[in-house]
Amino acid sequence: MSEPSPAVLMESVTPSFWSAVNVSLRRWFDTSASTGLESGAERIDWLRTSPFVAMHLACVAVFWVGVSRIAIAIAAALYVVRMFALTGFYHRYFAHRTFRTSRALQFVFACIGASCVQRGPLWWAAHHRNHHQHADTERDPHSPRVHGFLWSHMGWFLTPAGFRTDWKRIPDFARYQELRWLDRYDILVPIALASALYGLGSLLAHYAPGLGTSGGQLLTWGFFVSTVVLFHATVTINSLAHRFGTRRFPTRDDSRNNPWLALLTFGEGWHNNHHFFPGSVRQGFRWWEIDLTYYGLRLMAALRLVHNLKPVPARVMQQAGFIIQRTRG
Ligand SMILES: [Zn+2]
Ligand SMILES: [Zn+2]
Repeated sequence: MSEPSPAVLMESVTPSFWSAVNVSLRRWFDTSASTGLESGAERIDWLRTSPFVAMHLACVAVFWVGVSRIAIAIAAALYVVRMFALTGFYHRYFAHRTFRTSRALQFVFACIGASCVQRGPLWWAAHHRNHHQHADTERDPHSPRVHGFLWSHMGWFLTPAGFRTDWKRIPDFARYQELRWLDRYDILVPIALASALYGLGSLLAHYAPGLGTSGGQLLTWGFFVSTVVLFHATVTINSLAHRFGTRRFPTRDDSRNNPWLALLTFGEGWHNNHHFFPGSVRQGFRWWEIDLTYYGLRLMAALRLVHNLKPVPARVMQQAGFIIQRTRG
């Protein structure tokens, strides 16, 4: 038999290559874009994830756009609000259902969470439920023990395998059509935020030049720098909080309690507590275990915005060796 000609080879290779390029590009805007079976599902899809790389490179623009007090203030405020949305809602609400809220507020915080460029709430929560079930085993998507530090920090979600939303793990929230829509077109929210920041900066440059800001400056600090810092702070819980810290509870995984990470991530650093009992709204189990997300949710409960906050059960506190104060009668 003769060898196939180069033209025949091109015909057999080119369509699948171009369809893969097409899918990678469509996935920038529509996370439902798929070819079905994919080859190289565990490899990094650099084309699809190039905006993620570009977001990091864009931070270098601080050297051109300069800095101002208002740019730093907006970047910090967006870090605080969005970290709370991630920890309070993406994690403690969507992934673990540790409190209840209205359908409207659930959507509002899902949108704030989507502005963090960490995908939609259903994708995020489904992967996180998978992490808890298989923590630090071969089936954990981001275990530093199994996959190494870098992969657990920022490798696993860059692959086709890590891209899809695992609908089987999130049927409780997938029944809301507005959440399915947000999960599919999650990129619209960060685009809207970036545009709004650029517009605000341009308006301030025109009407309040004394502030020393501009469209490019607010876009760079408020969106790119704030989002990149927020991203790396969030994923320390997948990487560092399974490596460094103390273990109060002998869980099957490598989770640790780390007070520095808890400060950075508003309470998520009490990760060994959390792996031992993920069903509690609170992750700092003692009064001195600072858990800013929990305080924020308590405030929201006082304002009647959320309710049914699930506490740490007495038996869990007893297992930790803490004496439980009981009132008589
Ligand atoms: Zn974990
Ligand atoms: Zn969790």
